[in-house]
Amino acid sequence: MSATNHISRRRFLKIAGFGAGAAAVAAGSTGRLRAMARRPGTGETRVVPTFCDICFWKCNALAHVRDGGLWKITGNPDDPLSRGRLCPRGTGGIGASFDPDRLRTPLLRRKSRGEEQWVEVTWDEALGFVADRMQKIKARYGPEAVALFSHGIGGTFLKHTLKAYGSPNVAAPSFAQCRGPRDVGFELTFGEGIGSPERTDIGNARCLVLIGSHLGENMHNTQVQEFAAAIEKGATVIVADPRFSVAASKAKHYLPVKPGTDLALLLAWMNVIVTEQLYDAEYVTQHGFGFDYFSAELAARTPEWAYPETGISPELIRETAREMARHRPATLVHPGRHATWYGDDAQRSRAIALLNALLGSWGRKGGFYFPTSMDVPGYPYPPYPAPARGKVDNPDHQYPFASEAITTGIRSATLTGKPYPIKGWLVYATNLIHAMPSQEETIRAIQNLDLMVVVDVIPSEIAGWADVVLPESTYLERYDDLNVELFREPFVALRQPVVPSPDDQKPNWWIARELAVKLGLGAYYPWRDIEEYLDHRLEGAGLSLDDLKSRGLVRGPRPPLYYEDGIVPEFPTPTGKIEFFSAQLQAAGFDPIPRYERPAAPPAGTFRLLYGRAPVHSFSRTQSNPLLRDAMAENEVWVNAAVGARMGLASGDYVRLRNQDGVVSNRVRARVTEAIRADCVYLVHGFGHTSKGLRSAYGKGASDAQLITRYAVDPLMGGTGTNVNFVAIEQAG
Ligand code: SF4
Repeated sequence: MSATNHISRRRFLKIAGFGAGAAAVAAGSTGRLRAMARRPGTGETRVVPTFCDICFWKCNALAHVRDGGLWKITGNPDDPLSRGRLCPRGTGGIGASFDPDRLRTPLLRRKSRGEEQWVEVTWDEALGFVADRMQKIKARYGPEAVALFSHGIGGTFLKHTLKAYGSPNVAAPSFAQCRGPRDVGFELTFGEGIGSPERTDIGNARCLVLIGSHLGENMHNTQVQEFAAAIEKGATVIVADPRFSVAASKAKHYLPVKPGTDLALLLAWMNVIVTEQLYDAEYVTQHGFGFDYFSAELAARTPEWAYPETGISPELIRETAREMARHRPATLVHPGRHATWYGDDAQRSRAIALLNALLGSWGRKGGFYFPTSMDVPGYPYPPYPAPARGKVDNPDHQYPFASEAITTGIRSATLTGKPYPIKGWLVYATNLIHAMPSQEETIRAIQNLDLMVVVDVIPSEIAGWADVVLPESTYLERYDDLNVELFREPFVALRQPVVPSPDDQKPNWWIARELAVKLGLGAYYPWRDIEEYLDHRLEGAGLSLDDLKSRGLVRGPRPPLYYEDGIVPEFPTPTGKIEFFSAQLQAAGFDPIPRYERPAAPPAGTFRLLYGRAPVHSFSRTQSNPLLRDAMAENEVWVNAAVGARMGLASGDYVRLRNQDGVVSNRVRARVTEAIRADCVYLVHGFGHTSKGLRSAYGKGASDAQLITRYAVDPLMGGTGTNVNFVAIEQAG
């Protein structure tokens, strides 16, 4: 692999996973859907605006219905997120409705947990069982002993029910298993996090730096479109990644950094920018705090110091640092999203924030813009009861900078009973077996529960461990709460049913409301149905549900985005400045300026296990979607070509991965390639399903989650670094 990439940019734009993948799924969709839709009819079509739920980006879409059945889904041209183009997963999203494996009716456990033996019951029986167990837990342990794990906007109403019941314990893996360290690192530096969608101004960047962030495989729609636009406009792309990703293939400079040494690279980049006085001195002087201390600390972190750590030559470190400085402030060092790697992740993210601060990109065009949202009031519910005990996940503020609840903290309390017992789990739309590290700990924690409930569309692995499984309608069959997110322009968007649910599935709002009624909490649901709820909220903003039903979304006036537009710089940190030196970190016993520690090297004969995303799947949620499965049915393990040659491995051979604790994966095809370093292997996350109910995805590919038996906890915020596992490769025959 060469450090400098000369492949034509235009060609890359054409071959980028985004366009090609979308076309492939669309073509597959059309063929399969034609087959599915072979029913007599008049060809009558209608179009229903809604927003996508295949990932959390929530692109606005137009669902096309022909002869009463789902036909296709396209981007809503009025949508600032999708700009009228869905990503490949979104295009294939309608396959979720046709998934032959989806849950159809409420299920009650018949045998031991995990045996996946069920009795079909009515909704009344299922919710009656859940409410009865919740009341017993409340009477014996207090309401705080029930926790909710939730992912996405669909969890809104279950959160409401749980808070009305009296528990503060609600967590999402998106914090401690994903973006948490990034947000904390930026909050510690600028006083504000990055948010979702990220406030990155990629489209206007003249230099984009990606550190392990594989945009183009990771399909965050707006970002990928802006990435393509930036390249088209001639932006310089710098990618540091142990794997030659799709993004790396578009880069001017590719840095195959040794896994776990990104912080050393960041410190060396900052050393060059400071010692060569390439930083934005006016910006730093005006807005920075502790710069002298910071620059003194950096003095030893030279490119020569970083070379043996990172494997990146001093010349390339200097050249790329100068390139970043040349384009400032329109140089965006991307903060990434899935940032839980090695346990030092909040400090690494803080280093990314500090590098951006040196370049003056926070609040500047081509850097980070200031997001805004529509002013839509919430529903005027009665006040929740005050929990007698605080949240269980972070006792004594063990992780002092955790700004959201820690899923693994709830799991620990469930295992140990400390600081108080957790006896009930409600799990909404998150497959905790794949989303949290150490499946063994998760399963052991579940054994301590008096109640385990899963609400999902498909029989995920976590559903197999439930006492009660509640089948949810897909996003194409239900209303959800309004999408009123922070973005570069304000908007409010509606998800609405396009077609009815085919069986006995119910929308989450109905499930949450019925459960509340059975718990005697009906007063917390003064609205009869969700249309009444939505209309009430929209009226408060001077809008109407009927209008949103026909348009899908309403946009507000475009606000100023940057300091240069007149936004007054404000940094809600303790000093009111950008904190190059963090006194709050020092006071809590942490390094006030990020300090690098060398990661453990892979033991002889093993490779560091890395994982990431593919353009056609979301987490472990989509492998049974027939359209997306057609596009990618199983994952591969990327193995360096020299390693493959040494082992006599060829691409397509089946292997198994054995981790340091003796856990052996399902068999998985090898992809023998020069596009990955020799000290690591790489899997796309979400495959290797073991749920018997996922008949079409069962046993296809290998699960990174199964092999992640160890994790390094971030001492600042409790995130779980998962790139600390090593695997050996064994021939599978
Ligand atoms: S990025 Fe793709 S999957 Fe995610 S919401 Fe948008 S279209 Fe759907």
